[in-house]
Amino acid sequence: MSEDLLQDLNAAQREAVLHGEGPLLVLAGAGSGKTRVIVHRIARLVRDEGVIPWQILAVTFTNKAAGEMRERLERLLGPTARELWVQTFHAFGARFLRREAARAGLPPAFAIYDTDDQLRLVKRLLAEMGLDDGSSLTAREALSRIDAWKNEARRPGEVEVSPYDAEGQVARQLYERYQAALLRAGAADFGDLLVLPTRLLEEDPALRARWSGRFRHVLVDEFQDTNPAQYRLMKALVGARRNVCVVGDDDQAIYRWRGADVSNILGFDGDFPGTRVVKLEQNYRSTRTILDAAHAVISRARRRREKRLWTERDAGAPLALLVGEDEHAEAERIARAIAVERGRGTPGDEIAVLYRTNAQSRPLEAALRAARIPYVIVRGTSFYDRAEVRDAAAYLRLALNPRSDLDLERVVNRPSRKIGERTVERLRAHAVAKGIPLFEAIADREAVADLKPAARAALGEFHEIVAGLAADVPTLDAGIAVQEALRRSGLLARLEEEHSDEAVERAENLAELVAAAREFDEALAGEPPPTDPDEARPPPLARFLEQIALLGEADGETPEGRVALMTLHAAKGLEFEAVFLAGMEDGTLPHERPWSDQTPAERDEAQDEERRLCYVGMTRAKARLTLSLARRRMSFGEGGPSYRQAEPSRFLADLPPELFGDAVAREVRAREARAAQPPAARPPLVRRHPGALEGEPHIELDAEDAIAPGSPGRSGRPARGEPSRGEPTIDYDFDQRPDRAGPFQRGERVRHASLGEGIVLSCDGAGADAKATVRFDSGDKRIVARFLSRAE
Ligand code: ATP
Ligand code: MG
Repeated sequence: MSEDLLQDLNAAQREAVLHGEGPLLVLAGAGSGKTRVIVHRIARLVRDEGVIPWQILAVTFTNKAAGEMRERLERLLGPTARELWVQTFHAFGARFLRREAARAGLPPAFAIYDTDDQLRLVKRLLAEMGLDDGSSLTAREALSRIDAWKNEARRPGEVEVSPYDAEGQVARQLYERYQAALLRAGAADFGDLLVLPTRLLEEDPALRARWSGRFRHVLVDEFQDTNPAQYRLMKALVGARRNVCVVGDDDQAIYRWRGADVSNILGFDGDFPGTRVVKLEQNYRSTRTILDAAHAVISRARRRREKRLWTERDAGAPLALLVGEDEHAEAERIARAIAVERGRGTPGDEIAVLYRTNAQSRPLEAALRAARIPYVIVRGTSFYDRAEVRDAAAYLRLALNPRSDLDLERVVNRPSRKIGERTVERLRAHAVAKGIPLFEAIADREAVADLKPAARAALGEFHEIVAGLAADVPTLDAGIAVQEALRRSGLLARLEEEHSDEAVERAENLAELVAAAREFDEALAGEPPPTDPDEARPPPLARFLEQIALLGEADGETPEGRVALMTLHAAKGLEFEAVFLAGMEDGTLPHERPWSDQTPAERDEAQDEERRLCYVGMTRAKARLTLSLARRRMSFGEGGPSYRQAEPSRFLADLPPELFGDAVAREVRAREARAAQPPAARPPLVRRHPGALEGEPHIELDAEDAIAPGSPGRSGRPARGEPSRGEPTIDYDFDQRPDRAGPFQRGERVRHASLGEGIVLSCDGAGADAKATVRFDSGDKRIVARFLSRAE
């Protein structure tokens, strides 16, 4: 074993890295080096055990995480690392299906349909079924049912729906038609990338033997978020050798809503008897302050296995809290704080702003632009979601697979060729009657009834373009292929004729697409020829399109020096020097879902998941963690946009005030003492937030002081909020009541600062809201429990 691979590992990590054959589970909290264990283990297998790189499969959750893992491996192993199979489950599924397409009834160049494609297809099928009036279920609802079934790797025939569930019955019928339509189009959706390989492997022992024999080692990062389909896929690939290493953290399970199942991790040793379990407890990422904050939040989850991380690092900077009047003011404060952060030398790409929902990015973007801070939204799909880019991609997908009706419908009249909806309907009728794809119906246009000569001519022109592309571009380099598609389709020329600002921007986006394709080609050219005898690399265009299709929510590059903006979900596994957690409000984080149709147990589960999300967000920070919130936030209800008052997140109330620095802690203690005065003398600073559940802790705010009127940028004088070394950053006085006094038993002797000693008569409520009735010498008093301490 070469020394350097083991050098930067602690004993437990080393045990996991050196573990020989057989199942291995690393269950550990955030920042404890789980991903590092995977990387070093792979490096060791290749370098010291002589395992051939392409016999190792490592899966992780996002392309970004996979990219980082590949980079780390390349640094350790050099170019040979490129032959490792390191990718997301979906990318693996696509790669698998390219090789096994025929078994799945797909052409090797099958198209991958994303959510937008899926929705269009579902809408069309609902229309065909005469159900597009919205009376039963919407396309979105139908699709979410289908996706849920796919998460469980169920085929249409295997779906169980109660006979009383009318919508479910419709969804099931639709699912059947939907799969048939995909097959006809030679396309797979995202779910299929998991379901098809899983089922093929499960049902064909020879195939399973071949694939599981091929991978001598399978490693899975972020294992807590695997759904049943992914889990079964993994199991099928592991095979009898059982060389499987999974790492995860049940506290970071945040994809339950997508069908992920934590029991996969908690019950792992049940499925793989004899699993060696390694726990890691030292955190190397964050300061003690950040860890304490994260622990304060996660330890209140209702159902969890207790585990506590420790660090050798010191307390570091206190937490900071920024408060804005509304989401714009909040965003401005964040932008200013980022400017300060950059001013002290932190590179932009070591700074992240995390939020719960995508919609929160808009004001943040505006504020960062205004402050001239370069940023990037880590979502990836935004560029490829633009209409003109999708049009171009549709032409390219047609070139590889003219059967893809959805792509054909998208571009048959783009740019405009005067092919109207009527014409398309007649084509469709013809195609359905003959059981052929639209492209063939167009070839057969002379036989299509009721077409005007002009429409026939226009269709002929379109057919020639697509047939020409199909004949010429599939084997070209991606860059050239994209250029050809843009030229021959007329997409670019039409925009260039237009001269409007919008057209110029669209043309620029298309140029950007060409650039992206060229970069892709260059990267491919740098790849050494594969040593894997089975590796039949598809031509560059197909791979480029696949890469575009697989860009999920959590993807995209973080170009150097740019501040990253992303959702909490997308931030999984990543780390940054400074993290801003925006929108710390009840309703935003925890995010409010329509809880009306949830059972209490489901609601608790949903709230726990929000807590875990908050934990994931906090533990991304290495050195500085800033929390921010808005006092009111625009919301989009049924009556259009309106402002709603936002109450600080209940998670804030879980944080010990000390973490915000000594000054804040002193202030909070002073307030507590004031609040302990008899009620009449108490300043009216308590505002109970209406969304809070009984027994939930809450924050008490001194509202007047909350919006710092002298914030910089308005008055020019430095606000209290400006961070300086070691000093707390805080925008206003606030009062946090962590749950320190536990509930008391009847009969216990307690002490109160001004009332002296007494005996508890009763105690109710929980956490910060617990109250006790106490018999003091001066009489019976009802007292907030946290102002009481146990008398010796
Ligand atoms: P998460 O749960 O957030 O995915 P993780 O458990 O995967 O976290 P890593 O990302 O592997 O944790 O490690 C966190 C940080 O700590 C990284 O910067 C890593 O390089 C560093 N680290 C891990 N182990 C050690 C070690 N033994 N010595 C020094 N640094 C380490
Ligand atoms: Mg990790």
